[in-house]
Amino acid sequence: MLKGSSPLIFERSTEDRFAYSLPDLEVEREELADIIDSKFLRRTEAELPEISELDLIRHYTELSNKNYGVDSGFYPLGSCTMKYNPKMNEKVARLPGFANSHPLQNDKANQGSLEIAYDMQEHLKALTGMDEITLQPAAGAQGEWTSLLIIKAFHQANGDYDRTEVIVPDSAHGTNPSSAKVAGFDVVTVKSNDRGLVDIDHLKSVTGEKTAAIMLTNPNTLGLFEEDIIEIRDIIHEAGGKIYYDGANLNAIMAKVRPGDMGFDAVHLNLHKTFTGPHGGGGPGSGPIGVKSELAKFLPKPMIVKNDDDSYKVEHNVPDSIGRIKPFFGNFGIFLRAYTYIRTMGPDGLEEVSENAVLNANYVMRRLEGTYELPYQQHCKHEFVISGSRQKKMGVRTMDIAKRLLDYGYHPPTIYFPLNVEECMMIEPTETESKETLDGFVDALIQISKEAEKEPDTVLEAPYTTVVSRLDETQAARKPVLRFQHENIVDEK
Ligand SMILES: *Cc1c(COP(=O)(O)O)cnc(C)c1O
Repeated sequence: MLKGSSPLIFERSTEDRFAYSLPDLEVEREELADIIDSKFLRRTEAELPEISELDLIRHYTELSNKNYGVDSGFYPLGSCTMKYNPKMNEKVARLPGFANSHPLQNDKANQGSLEIAYDMQEHLKALTGMDEITLQPAAGAQGEWTSLLIIKAFHQANGDYDRTEVIVPDSAHGTNPSSAKVAGFDVVTVKSNDRGLVDIDHLKSVTGEKTAAIMLTNPNTLGLFEEDIIEIRDIIHEAGGKIYYDGANLNAIMAKVRPGDMGFDAVHLNLHKTFTGPHGGGGPGSGPIGVKSELAKFLPKPMIVKNDDDSYKVEHNVPDSIGRIKPFFGNFGIFLRAYTYIRTMGPDGLEEVSENAVLNANYVMRRLEGTYELPYQQHCKHEFVISGSRQKKMGVRTMDIAKRLLDYGYHPPTIYFPLNVEECMMIEPTETESKETLDGFVDALIQISKEAEKEPDTVLEAPYTTVVSRLDETQAARKPVLRFQHENIVDEK
């Protein structure tokens, strides 16, 4: 067996060992057929592991300890805002009144949940400066796609069928061009200038009658604030296009600046990033969108609205809606967590979050700039990029540095993204980490650079402390082995 690997729960199974005790069945098997349709009755034994309660608990505890998450250590994944998920949120999400409710209950029985959803929409309006919100999208990417469908519906309602292009900066998150494509648009890339910002001259040259929208992240994925945002807005608006805000990471500007005030027409937020919903491992996410009033009638249905008597209802009658994009009205459990976060922080607390997120990122950036190449010199917002180009000359690449960080006990930052920076490392420390943690991480990166200089092989062969070392990542994505078998794990060393 591999170091650190553990037997499957089936391999721990011993006949007739149980983790439960139940009274004997009082009904004969044959009698069951009278009560339950025979097609639902089991004909073969359920091949479940037979294991004692204590061994069961130990098995799953052991597995959970193998997991790496924000609760186990520093997780500086840029563009992902891996911040602490307050346990208070979990407690609220588990309150029986919420946990046991069901969206198919009628509106009268769901008043409490609807009120929370409505109030959440109001808070998000206040934070984004938008006129109308829907909580439906299940992720940032779905929010982008939904917004683009709304923008398309708006143009078509004006008889504007030839707006087929969406402009996306070369530093954009990969979901931006993908969403534009899936929404049926052609993607036009606008270049960044040498300061990492949208190149205004190039933007002018690609904007025109075909422009449906531009998708912008601000601060962008390099962690830099688009200082020319007003000019960008005017260029797009004068050409008849809409301007879309990718607000997946609101960490830098929350309660400071609002996308609505910057002139954006539509925005999505990732509640599973900035607003402390847990994420990773595939969800569930929550990517509410907000739009200005002229786009509001196209929002997906149903909508959650307030009646004249201050009660709430799920409104299905939305004639110009682009339609339903998600069952019910979104991932309620996640916006319940985010709602708890917003209410417990308050406006001052949220503002402090932004300040500390920016402070922490600048602190880490300035401590690293002597060792690693810093491509953009200006102050950053909530995240920044450095380049491993100096280390590359020593024969060690960013991928190797990331792998070596695992041995130091840190989750690596985002690497090789954005695409416009060579040997890129994108670091987002978040506001929730202590100075000691930040220093530990910086020291590890500095130490790894020294190793790269003096003993590059140590870095090239890392990691040493994980269950498996280097995997063929392409094969892992293309031919994932989803059913665990010991012989499938091949340690290359
Ligand atoms: C995470 C992220 C997205 C996509 O969000 P998902 O919920 O993963 O679909 C989009 N844009 C930016 C800038 C992001 O960081």
